[in-house]
Amino acid sequence: MSVTVRVPAKVNLHLGVGGTRPDGYHELVSVFQSVSLFDTVTATGAPELSVTVAGEDTAAVPADHRNLAARAAALLAERIGVEPGVHLHIDKRIPVAGGMAGGSADAAAAIVACAALWGLEPDHEALHEVAVQVGSDVAFALLGGTAIGTGRGENLTPLTHCGRFHWVFALAHEGLSTPRVFVECDRLRAEAGTPPPEGPALDPAADFEAALASGDPARLAALLRNDLQGAALTIRPELADTLGSGLAAGALGALVSGSGPTCAFLVRDEEAARTVAAALVASGHCRSVRTAHGPVDGPAARVTTATDTTGTDRSSLYISQGAA
Ligand code: ATP
Repeated sequence: MSVTVRVPAKVNLHLGVGGTRPDGYHELVSVFQSVSLFDTVTATGAPELSVTVAGEDTAAVPADHRNLAARAAALLAERIGVEPGVHLHIDKRIPVAGGMAGGSADAAAAIVACAALWGLEPDHEALHEVAVQVGSDVAFALLGGTAIGTGRGENLTPLTHCGRFHWVFALAHEGLSTPRVFVECDRLRAEAGTPPPEGPALDPAADFEAALASGDPARLAALLRNDLQGAALTIRPELADTLGSGLAAGALGALVSGSGPTCAFLVRDEEAARTVAAALVASGHCRSVRTAHGPVDGPAARVTTATDTTGTDRSSLYISQGAA
């Protein structure tokens, strides 16, 4: 039996970075939105855990136990007391090391696919707990939609009243290491004598919620902010040209996505998305361009909670609407 799960990328509409915690992570406040760029993960019963990866730009993706999807499958198996006998095939469309949490997305998809494969009762708490063990962004990747994340980004408050927004993403020629960007952010703050905010806050959160609920992209564009952008631009100064090209072509807002180097452009509608995408391609500043919309559901949002599973093929509770 095989289970295929489709999982979206994310963009941070707000990324506030605080100080380093005793465990080495930074204190964050983030507004995540899932967007319609998808990887798919297919889990097939097998004698042992293995991974294959297909798609663009996969040379940098480990096809072994270091793959976040494999780690997620192993942790889920351990938690529910089964052998991690599964082959995971990942079809990658989300840019690798692009600040769009592609690895976390694959981990989230693997959790849902393996839970279905191994006949686990739908249990959102168990899925969430395994996700948090794998990495900071995996919990949001499971859920999708739009949410505020605090802590490492794993304490989530979904924002359910949200209009539909249109995005353009400019993919860079080469990925950027997330830890390197955080180190650079700390270095720039130390150099400037600016201490990190004690507990970064989404201020004022009510403005964000109102802008999202209104569905007005101009209102949301005015609130976009990424504390890692300065660091990403210091490491890759050419990203400033990419951001400028999209804004000049009519984007309402532009920012580096997460730790970069993907640049995200918020646009008025699909027509504006096509115009901005064409201008970015013509500028020659990026490797390729994608258009997308958000929010979209993550794979766990489509898992149905069973009240009576007698005689039910449990995999259908996971993949009834979630199959790619
Ligand atoms: P984030 O936005 O969460 O900081 P990112 O989008 O910048 O992450 P990823 O694409 O998740 O970066 O990959 C970061 C690194 O993780 C890659 O360079 C790769 O070595 C490793 N990795 C492990 N598993 C995966 C996976 N399934 N897909 C992509 N990268 C993976």
